[in-house]
Amino acid sequence: MKDVETTIEKFRQTGLKITPQRISIFNLLKDDREHPSAEDIYKRVLKIHPSISFTTVYKTLQTLRDMDEIRELSINPERVHYDPATDDHIHTFCTVCRNIEDFMPDHSCEYLELASSKINGFHVQSAEVYLTGICEDCSV
Ligand SMILES: [Zn+2]
Ligand SMILES: [Zn+2]
Repeated sequence: MKDVETTIEKFRQTGLKITPQRISIFNLLKDDREHPSAEDIYKRVLKIHPSISFTTVYKTLQTLRDMDEIRELSINPERVHYDPATDDHIHTFCTVCRNIEDFMPDHSCEYLELASSKINGFHVQSAEVYLTGICEDCSV
């Protein structure tokens, strides 16, 4: 998700209605680096639109995912999380606090080069790498 205006324009071009609820969801997602779940987004948007249903939030997230505006992360076995940063990057998942964070290695990571390559005739379109473990806060 680059910016809210571009996302709104994409929705319009697809013939989808732009509602104040949807714009709020876009705004909440845009700068979110916490990899929220649908429930997290729902709780936040409820404060702005008390009558919004979970289904509306969930469907909007699915549409955004289908448009490649956000990524769906399936590392947490309990629930799906969303990431507005759609570039290829590595995620860590802490099995204690269940936090998902972006993992930024100091050196270039070969896997990131895999994401746009062709190997044995196979065109790679995206690559997903999850590292599972215990974060710094939880290991003390
Ligand atoms: Zn942790
Ligand atoms: Zn991320």
